[in-house]
Amino acid sequence: MKLADLHDSLRDCQACRLASSGRTQVVFGTGNPHASIMFVGEAPGFHEDKQGVPFVGAAGKLLTGLLESVGLSREEIYIANVIKCRPPNNRNPQPDEIETCKPFLLQQIQLINPKLVCSLGNFAMQTLLEKKIGITKVRGQVFRLPEFILFPLLHPAAALHQGNLMTPLREDFQKLKKVLDEMTTAPETSPPAPNTPVQMDLF
Ligand code: SF4
Repeated sequence: MKLADLHDSLRDCQACRLASSGRTQVVFGTGNPHASIMFVGEAPGFHEDKQGVPFVGAAGKLLTGLLESVGLSREEIYIANVIKCRPPNNRNPQPDEIETCKPFLLQQIQLINPKLVCSLGNFAMQTLLEKKIGITKVRGQVFRLPEFILFPLLHPAAALHQGNLMTPLREDFQKLKKVLDEMTTAPETSPPAPNTPVQMDLF
């Protein structure tokens, strides 16, 4: 299956209650389908739902600026969310909605096959790390998963709502720059056994 086929198969997805909770459309993802770096957020908001593209509102503008600060453009990466339909009133995704939509994200990641996945916020980190742990405990750290390296970051929307998170978010993007530099210079290492996230000590 190609990424475009997966996208087509989800255009009218009815697999969870968010299909009939006022969504305008399924927000699948955007960017380079062969990207080596992928960003995964939480769920579409108002503007994302209307435009069908992740991270186009204020948080998206902040993300674009942060990406540019470390030499990345939106065109070279791929951006998606754990949940592909907007939860009503921007409420948090519910556990069963995440469980239902998660296989589509994993399939998406498998088809794009990035080396590095940067999760944005609690939900994306917990979904990919499969651990109920707070983002502030693991943000800015590097985890080697069987298929890719995971780098959890704070969610830009959280930094917009809580000004004290802006500095840590910017610091983590500077750490991300080091991770990117490491990835381009370090030799490939063999992946760990499946289901054993290994924390890497780069900092
Ligand atoms: S949130 Fe995911 S599982 Fe639920 S309807 Fe949308 S695409 Fe389907």
